[in-house]
Amino acid sequence: MKTAEHPEQAAKFVANDERAHWHDQALWFVREKRDRMAVSLPEWEQLRSAASQIKLHTVSRLADYLEQFEQNATKLGAVVHWARDSEEHNQIVLSLLQKTGAKRVVKSKSMLTEECHLNPFLEEQGIEVVDTDLGERIVQMRKETPSHIVLPAIHIKKEEVSETFHEHLQTEAGNNDPNYLTEAARNHLREKFLAADVGITGVNFAIAETGGLVVCTNEGNADLGVSLPKMHIACMGIEKLIPHASDLSVFLRLLARSATGQPITTYSSHFHGPLPGGELHIILVDNGRSNLMGSEQFRNSLKCIRCGACMNTCPVYRRSGGHSYGTTVPGPIGSILAPSRDSKAHKSLPFACTLCGSCTDVCPVKIDLHHELLEWRGEIRQRGQLPMSKTVPMKLTSWMMRSPWLFRWVGAIGKFCLRHLPRWAIYHGLNPWGKQREMPESPKESFRELYQIHESKKASDE
Ligand code: SF4
Repeated sequence: MKTAEHPEQAAKFVANDERAHWHDQALWFVREKRDRMAVSLPEWEQLRSAASQIKLHTVSRLADYLEQFEQNATKLGAVVHWARDSEEHNQIVLSLLQKTGAKRVVKSKSMLTEECHLNPFLEEQGIEVVDTDLGERIVQMRKETPSHIVLPAIHIKKEEVSETFHEHLQTEAGNNDPNYLTEAARNHLREKFLAADVGITGVNFAIAETGGLVVCTNEGNADLGVSLPKMHIACMGIEKLIPHASDLSVFLRLLARSATGQPITTYSSHFHGPLPGGELHIILVDNGRSNLMGSEQFRNSLKCIRCGACMNTCPVYRRSGGHSYGTTVPGPIGSILAPSRDSKAHKSLPFACTLCGSCTDVCPVKIDLHHELLEWRGEIRQRGQLPMSKTVPMKLTSWMMRSPWLFRWVGAIGKFCLRHLPRWAIYHGLNPWGKQREMPESPKESFRELYQIHESKKASDE
């Protein structure tokens, strides 16, 4: 699959300077909230270590825990389905909806259903799907995709929300008051909740020991969505499993603090079997996760609890926007997950990184994100998927750096050019560095010359 390269998409985002700055600041604000929450807990690092170990242990025995979960969920009255990929997942959802004759579905936030492109699939079958998370509903009305896994509409300003609501919900033109807009959305969604035939939710944690599910939201929309319809369909990636109910406290304490800087998500809803007289269907989806589990280099990324902290802190994500990644999950973790599905289509993503390591520092489950991104760069090179614009300069640089005389000679030419060539001869299309930055000032002496001066001075002093 050919997708647009990250630099091209990012260039479109940064072309709107005001939006790029505002996006950067909005996410940095969330990152700072997260920091305050993290330092307020003396046991923060122990929690991160515990979460990492629980997830690693679960992934190492995933097959056993999945079977245990299926048995216990079935005992509670749920029906467990297994989907190899997104097509199977979508077909299972469709067959369940067709069985009940459902035409209207309400859905709380689920990155898995985004990954499987469930909405367009169901809409093609004549089924109305309404996303009930406020941010997701806004992007759905605008026919966009979420740009962030926790804050799906972070790229949209309140003035634009007002325009969208005016068009779709007939709110007052130009009224940007967040309370007014939220109230309008609430009234609109209430009608959808009341009319829904089936409720679909994602899953934050599935507990092998009990067969129960936990769904975390800030708006209570998952609870409302599954309380009225008779059927609840819960869609989850197989990595959402945790072994014991007692493990949950570790993850719930980390998740909201890392995601939005709250002590806990407003609603952490537990589902143990269907409602009386209702049906609960749980779809366990692989969609490439088993392959990732088999990869020693990238297995760690299965520990991800989708908190979004790595996005909020990433200098590239904050300045290029989530849509520039062209994937359901953007940012550092998305740049690891996407190439594992299709490295050719997403070959630019591991390079959308400064290797600053900030993502690794904030990750609540201690995924070594920047190391995995570096690993992906090597992997992409080995697979022969790097463009010539990267391979040729790298080969030339490596050749130059292996030859001391050539290195000296190129350095001297570089210094001369920086000092004497006219600006137009340095800042042109072949110099991407100079597009938005000034070249460094040419130093008087090179490091080698400085070293020699220092050494001869030392010798004469002795
Ligand atoms: S990789 Fe870590 S920081 Fe990023 S979303 Fe996943 S859990 Fe959060």
